[in-house]
Amino acid sequence: MPAPLIDPFGRAITYLRLSVTDRCDLRCVYCMAEDMSFLPRAEILSLEELERLAGAFVALGVTRLRLTGGEPLVRRGILTLIERLGARLGHGLDELTLTTNGTHLAEHAGTLARAGIRRINVSLDTLDPGRFTRLTRWGRLDRVLAGLDAARAAGLAIKINTVALRGENEHEWDALIAWCGEQGFDLCLIETMPMGDIGADRTDLYLPLSQVRAHLEETWTLDPTEYKTPGPARYVRIRETGRRLGFITPLTHNFCEGCNRVRLTVSGRLFMCLGQNDSADLRGALRGSENETDLHEAIRSAIARKPKGHDFVIERRAPAVARHMSVTGG
Ligand code: SAM
Ligand code: SF4
Repeated sequence: MPAPLIDPFGRAITYLRLSVTDRCDLRCVYCMAEDMSFLPRAEILSLEELERLAGAFVALGVTRLRLTGGEPLVRRGILTLIERLGARLGHGLDELTLTTNGTHLAEHAGTLARAGIRRINVSLDTLDPGRFTRLTRWGRLDRVLAGLDAARAAGLAIKINTVALRGENEHEWDALIAWCGEQGFDLCLIETMPMGDIGADRTDLYLPLSQVRAHLEETWTLDPTEYKTPGPARYVRIRETGRRLGFITPLTHNFCEGCNRVRLTVSGRLFMCLGQNDSADLRGALRGSENETDLHEAIRSAIARKPKGHDFVIERRAPAVARHMSVTGG
């Protein structure tokens, strides 16, 4: 057995987020510019290459894999990759999950569940159809809601991810919490992060979750919980609905101490930290040699450069990190 991946700060790296495409069928205003340019096809790893890379990480002790993007379900052939990765569950891989905008869930939820996925994150920032279309620039809320119904019917546990947006969804917390309670979904609120040019100033959208939480406590009873996922969210349980509520607060609270993850882009760049620019090219190692030992060495030397933490400061006008969240999948 190869030795596990341990970074310079003694953190074991057991979680890989794999972006399977940088493309998306939506253009959420805080995530992408309307006229985004995407990677040329030649830069993109094939599904076989993505599978080989994922396999190398699993061989090095990664037990959890999350597929993300861009929108993972728009990549052609993605269900085949999901099935092939699902076959590794119980053979080094403990969990396979997916983050999606939900627009293609209605067609694919059954296949995802059969492949061994047990829980998914679905991004949804509003329950208002008009606001949904505006925030995503052209998306349709009814498609996402149909996808959520299909996912629940397929037995998938669902967590809704909602980015807190000043002046947009800040009056919807009560409605979202009540709706998640009725639907049996957990909810996670996320602060906007300064990543990539979106063709506008994101500072206006930033809403600190400390404010949101104080407001919620006027209406709901937030009970402490020991619940933890491999992710950075801190959870409470809402007594009135019985559902969990998570907070992801990269800007008001630094969550780096327990970081166990790295992120791989669809062009094979490994980002050791979401909030830093350093990356390692694994595509070269992947294409340059059929020998898994060389690939393992390239992964190990990247992990040896994992920094202590991120460096986001929302007040800076320029994005703290030039790449978009859709490149690394958040
Ligand atoms: N397309 C899929 C989706 O929307 O779930 C997966 C990729 S998307 C980049 C992953 C998550 O990142 C979504 O929940 C999205 O809301 C969030 N996100 C995108 N840009 C962000 C930003 N600048 N700050 C905070 N969250 C962001
Ligand atoms: Fe697409 Fe997800 Fe970014 Fe929205 S947040 S534009 S759905 S990648």
